[in-house]
Parts: sequence; structure tokens; C-alpha cells
Amino acid sequence: MRVNAYAAPAAGRPLAPTTVERRDVGPDDVLIEIEYAGICHSDIHTVNGDWGPQPFPVVPGHEIVGVVAEVGAGVTTHRVGDRVGVGCMVGSCRRCANCRNGDEQYCVEGMVATYAGTDRDGTTTQGGYSTHVVVDAHFVLAVPDTLDPAAAAPLLCAGITTYAPLRRWGAGPGRRVAVVGLGGLGHLAVKIAAAMGAEVTVLSQSLKKQEDGLRLGAQHYHATSDPDTFTQLAGTFDLVLNTVSAPIDVDAYLSLLAVDGALVNVGAPAEPLAVDVFSLLTNRRTFAGSMIGGIAETQEVLDFCAEHGIGADVEVIAADRVNDAYERVLASDVRYRFVIDTATLR
Ligand code: NAP
Ligand code: ZN
Ligand code: ZN
Repeated sequence: MRVNAYAAPAAGRPLAPTTVERRDVGPDDVLIEIEYAGICHSDIHTVNGDWGPQPFPVVPGHEIVGVVAEVGAGVTTHRVGDRVGVGCMVGSCRRCANCRNGDEQYCVEGMVATYAGTDRDGTTTQGGYSTHVVVDAHFVLAVPDTLDPAAAAPLLCAGITTYAPLRRWGAGPGRRVAVVGLGGLGHLAVKIAAAMGAEVTVLSQSLKKQEDGLRLGAQHYHATSDPDTFTQLAGTFDLVLNTVSAPIDVDAYLSLLAVDGALVNVGAPAEPLAVDVFSLLTNRRTFAGSMIGGIAETQEVLDFCAEHGIGADVEVIAADRVNDAYERVLASDVRYRFVIDTATLR
């Protein structure tokens, strides 16, 4: 099946309309008619070649929501007409210890990324800036009816990527959580951490988005461009979740942690980060990372967000606005996630 899509033809080049081939629906597959595809900063890193060589052309998009159009004979978990989602992965070995633990993203054979990944049949995967996609049913999530489909799309990457470390590092009542960077990931981190009952602080480059930050559920908001922020908040957080797409001063953020606090990095800049070990020795601090989340946990995020009435704050755009949207994300001018209405690709 040949379907319409938007692709980057080469590293750093603007995206343009194209068509891609989707495989026939196999016994374990689901054909999804895509409704919405979120624009994640990882799409931009990929298109710009920030993370090294990779196949082109690439159709980005790993925050996919749509409706099931066809299922394979062996599929029992999804039915035609169901609203479903696909996140950052479309395959893994399903047998290794990590897969069996629900950590498919850490599959020892490597997960199959939703785009620019190598699928089991050797073909290169192409993502959600498209009208249709065929995905193994195990990697297809159920989107609860109460969620707005456009606002639900970013939960498939930005939502799970922030939910997983917030859960793992115990965000909840009595815990002081700082979220660094109020973009796509950051604004969902604030909503989710607040819903978990944590005391949430936003650390943003400026105070421009302060009103939004407080509306999203933060109790405190500080500008990281103000050096007083780091003296005032020294040693006060249990968890600092860094969502910044550019390199940060790791030591400065570690200094904000209380005893046994953790700085968890989900931002993925191309450049290595430096750390002074004394920043870790003091207060027995942890510096950790986290990559998306497993399939069961992604379903948990969707259900948690449905229960708490959480969706992303989205600006829905036509597919031909995608290059402008990339510029605006790079300029930190996004409130707070661009989502492509893929009906504009038909
Ligand atoms: P985004 O919407 O662009 O948000 C990033 C935010 O970081 C910006 O809104 C801005 O917030 C802040 N920021 C940007 N440039 C900065 C700079 N030079 N200095 C300081 N702060 C800066 O991006 P996103 O989609 O949320 O993604 C964020 C990062 O997470 C990307 O690197 C992405 O690749 C990565 N990511 C990782 C995973 C994972 O599994 N670990 C999953 C998804 C995405 P303020 O204006 O508030 O300062
Ligand atoms: Zn993403
Ligand atoms: Zn595996």
C-alpha cells in the first residue's frame, strides 16, 4: 500500500511531500488510519543529523494516534474502529529478559524505532507524518475514549518519557520535583508530576512562561538565567528532571539536589555533558538517564492521563506547516506541542 507522507530527503533539508510503502497487514499486524502525529524534538534532532548518520529519506513521527482500519487474523487486542496510538517503537525481540520485564525499549537485540529503524524484514521504518501505518499489535496502545485524540498523541512519547522517571524516582506527595525546560516533554512532566501529588517547580530559561507553568500545576517557577535561582534553591529537590534539548551545566543542576536526590536526564543533545564527581559525592547524589518506557507502562500513562484529565497543550497544524513548526520548536517558541492533522495529507 502506497500512502502519502512528509519526509526529510537528507540531513538538515526541509521536509516535503512524498509517498511511502506500507507492508501488507500480516497476521499480527494492525493497519492504522492516522489522525494526528505530534512533533517531538527528537524528530528534529534526527532530521538534522544531530545523532549521527542514519537512513534518508526519513518520515519522522512517533506520537501517533489514529483509528484501526484492518487487523490481521491473529490480532485479539484491537478491533476495526478502535482509537489507538503508537509511540517510539514498533518492534523488539519479545524474548530477552528486558522485553519480558516490560522494558522493550532496552531490548538486548535493540528495539525497532518507529522511524529510521531497521524492521525485522530488513526494511527501514517510516513514521507517523503519514496517512497510514502498519504496526505489530503488541506495539499498538489503546487510547481511552475520554482523551482528545490530538492532545493524546504527545502522550505516546513526551508523556511516557516523563512519566517513567517520575514514577521510578518516586514523584508523589511530600516529594519536591523540579522540571527543567518547559517544552513538549517539560509541560507534560509538570502536569503528570502535579497529578502524582508532588510539589513541582519549573526551571525555565526565563519567566516568559511563568503564568502557563503555574496553570499547568507547578507551585514555583524560576528563571535559570538568574544566578540567584541556583543559590536560593541549592540542596532543595528530591528529583530534577532535565528535558532540555541542548547541553546543560550538570554541576549547577546537581547542586540543587537534597541528600539522595537524583538528576534524571531525558533531554538528548548531541554533545557530551561534563560532570564534576564532587557534585555527586556531596549529598550522595545520583545522575541518571531514562529512555521512553515499555509498552505496558505506555498504556499505564494513557490510562493515568485519562483518569486525571491530562492531555498535551497542542497547536494543531496542517502538514505543510511542519518546517515552520520545526523552526519554532528550535526557538523554544512552542506552547507546548505541535501536532500534525494528518487529514491534511490526504
Ligand atoms: P522542546 O519542546 O523543544 O523543549 C525543550 C525545552 O528546553 C525548550 O522548550 C526550552 O524550555 C528548553 N531549552 C531549549 N534550548 C535550550 C537551551 N539552549 N538552553 C536551555 N534551555 C533550553 O523539546 P522536547 O520535544 O520536549 O524534547 C526535549 C529533549 O528530550 C530533546 O533533546 C529530545 O530529543 C529529548 N527526548 C528524549 C527522550 C528520551 O527517551 N529520553 C524522548 C523524547 C525526547 P524553556 O524555554 O522553558 O527554557
Ligand atoms: Zn519523541
Ligand atoms: Zn528483547
